[in-house]
Amino acid sequence: MSETRRPDPKVVGDCVHCGFCLPACPTYSLWGEEMDSPRGRIHLIDQVINGAPVDDVLTGHLDACLGCLACVPACPSGVRYDLLIGAARAQVEEEHRRPLRERLLRSLIFAIFPHPARLRLMRGPLYLYRRLALDRLMRRIAPRLALLARLAPEPRSLPDSGIPSRGNAQPESLGTARQAGSLGPHHDAGPRRAQHDAPHIPAHDDAPHDSAHVSAQHDTDRVSEPADAPQRPGTARPHRPRGRTAIPERTPATGTTRARVGMLTGCVQREFFPEVNAATVRVLAAEGVEVIVPKRQGCCGALSWHSGRDREARGFAQDVVTAFRDVDVVVANAAGCGSALKEYAEILGEAPPFRVVDVAELLHELGPVAERHPLPLSVAYHDACHLANAQGIRTAPRALLRQIPGLTLHEIPDAGMCCGSAGVYNVLNPAPAADLGDRKADAIAATGADLLVTANPGCLLQIADAFRRRGGTPPRLAHTIEVLDRAISG
Ligand code: SF4
Ligand code: SF4
Repeated sequence: MSETRRPDPKVVGDCVHCGFCLPACPTYSLWGEEMDSPRGRIHLIDQVINGAPVDDVLTGHLDACLGCLACVPACPSGVRYDLLIGAARAQVEEEHRRPLRERLLRSLIFAIFPHPARLRLMRGPLYLYRRLALDRLMRRIAPRLALLARLAPEPRSLPDSGIPSRGNAQPESLGTARQAGSLGPHHDAGPRRAQHDAPHIPAHDDAPHDSAHVSAQHDTDRVSEPADAPQRPGTARPHRPRGRTAIPERTPATGTTRARVGMLTGCVQREFFPEVNAATVRVLAAEGVEVIVPKRQGCCGALSWHSGRDREARGFAQDVVTAFRDVDVVVANAAGCGSALKEYAEILGEAPPFRVVDVAELLHELGPVAERHPLPLSVAYHDACHLANAQGIRTAPRALLRQIPGLTLHEIPDAGMCCGSAGVYNVLNPAPAADLGDRKADAIAATGADLLVTANPGCLLQIADAFRRRGGTPPRLAHTIEVLDRAISG
């Protein structure tokens, strides 16, 4: 295979120029410019295939694309715009020299974000940055760096989610002053109730799955992971102060083992949203899934692949395949990571030796076994583009949320429109990203929901930032798996 991708003329030829994709495209909806629509970009890519240079104009229109892929399901001819934009970006990376400032910013982004250890080093400085309120000063000196820093969450849980027992004040609803029912009393509940201590489970069912036999000493061999560790099934875990702790390398299923999976911990997810990973392990174990979390796992390559940095993405992907060589199924809980993992056949030139599933997809497939306790919550679910458009997963997360007694699910108006996060798009293209974020915040507020739920850390940060710009209280935010975890733990 060639080192980097190039757009396939046959895919370009599938476009019949009907324009049905235009209303779905966020940049076309912002500017109404043909060359900032899917059809226009396909036309530009066609010109490059036919010998036009990869110049500033072409690069500008391609860079303005969010890669949200809303145009793919909207296209009646089945044009694989996802293949075209990825390949075109790879060609731009190879053939176009961007202005110095742009190159420096991109180098900084790719030197930090796909490297969990470097992200970890940023946790302390970012905490100080926020505590010392340096944002205004930084915005004046280096606006895009300020945005980069602002997008990084505080070194703690999802802001104000109110879902786990984190000692948050009882939060307000989104867009209204309604309060979030029953979550409040649990906040300072002290020791977290053991959701896995189901007394009906016979002891013999706790034996690991045959193919999953892992030495007991692995239970003490822990993956470096900040904040809360997942609770061992069958054991109560006292509430701990924040700090670095660990996720076990192996967590056995509660009861009968129905599946055995490896879990990708991600980069931003691992360092800034550790509660999501911990909740994922708890929920999977409660649902009868043995979870293996390899110690030596790095970036999946999503950011690099979706930015056309093919060689870099391939290196990351090869390392992930090595890290997960002992499992048949790999679970992702971040939409962008899951999407890239599902593209490994293309990234590596051969299918990986494991199946990839999103955590909601897996849980929906398996069906529930753990009891769901009531959560009287009003929830707005936001489709992350790389879950809904790239992976086609829309039903599973909604179905999981609807399994929770007392929970009311709201659809967000114009739900298919990207929030403007799109990997690092909001750092590289802050103005359109902010416009899209503002639109999304308005749409979410219109639902009157108590809690915004989605499945991608970038979306959560982007939406929180949009609400901050509105000057109101940032919404309570949570990953789908955190809501499920709360319902199962009771
Ligand atoms: S991409 Fe699809 S929907 Fe858009 S113009 Fe081409 S054929 Fe029509
Ligand atoms: S990926 Fe999104 S922003 Fe890009 S052309 Fe398609 S709909 Fe428009």
